Amino acid sequence: MQIKETEIKELIIPASDFEKDFLGVSHSLNLFKGCSGQCAFCGLLPDKKSEQEIEVFINAPSVLAKEIVEKYKGGVIGIGTDAEIFQLSEKYDYLLNEIFTILIRYKVPVHIFTKTNTLLKGHWLSMLKELSKNYLTISISLFTVNEETAGIFEPGAPKPEKRLAALSILSKMKILTGVLYSPILPDISDDFDEMENVIKMSKAYNSSYIIFAPELKISADFSKKFYSVLKKNYPALVKKYMKLFSKDNHEYEDKLSLLKTQIDFLCNRYDIEIGAPFYRNIYKDGQFEMFKNEQRGK
Ligand code: SF4
Repeated sequence: MQIKETEIKELIIPASDFEKDFLGVSHSLNLFKGCSGQCAFCGLLPDKKSEQEIEVFINAPSVLAKEIVEKYKGGVIGIGTDAEIFQLSEKYDYLLNEIFTILIRYKVPVHIFTKTNTLLKGHWLSMLKELSKNYLTISISLFTVNEETAGIFEPGAPKPEKRLAALSILSKMKILTGVLYSPILPDISDDFDEMENVIKMSKAYNSSYIIFAPELKISADFSKKFYSVLKKNYPALVKKYMKLFSKDNHEYEDKLSLLKTQIDFLCNRYDIEIGAPFYRNIYKDGQFEMFKNEQRGK
């Protein structure tokens, strides 16, 4: 894995429809392209690119400082939507530090997505607390609470329970926290009891919401890494997956709709909100009117 320092022209990007509707953000901000996490099912970078290098946007803080003043008109900025934001920390912590400082200074509402517990480090905790004085929510992502399965598909991430424990600490600091539950792997992590464990543990560790995005995307560009892990650990499932994810097979859509019904049921049972918290921010007469944590449709 090579690290390449690059300069970008634009840092705050208008959110995609998925990011708006499912993640509740209006913009995204990423410090890296590529990820050291190397999750087998990661659909964010094609096999070829993700195995080669991580790009670091070395001028990100100066671009952000300019964009906040000249371009940003309000809305929640989703941080770490395309690659883990708490990675390569020893060398590049200072960049994230500068980014958080700018967001705190301009009171920007923020939603952080992460698959680590690195944010518990002392200096991050105090910055997160500052961000939360305006608006901050943190979503910890996981796809199972089974340690063995997680180790197979997410070799670079801390154990699921450690991620959940981080969430619990943040929530005790009065920071809004939740779980991004994604993806669900057919015949591996789709057992009802297993899904119930995820929801039960999320609740036990003070998650306020579950963002459920069960779809596993296996397209030609993203399949090599996934199938090599599947072949090594679940050889009996390879043919089944190839059939399930082949073009014109609609069986998977039916599975997804059943999974959504099951999650609705479980979230109801454990009294946990389903969906991202939404934040409405109206820019009016030079001032922001803030309505925190509104759920979509309410
Ligand atoms: S941590 Fe996130 S971005 Fe990184 S490889 Fe895993 S799923 Fe992809």
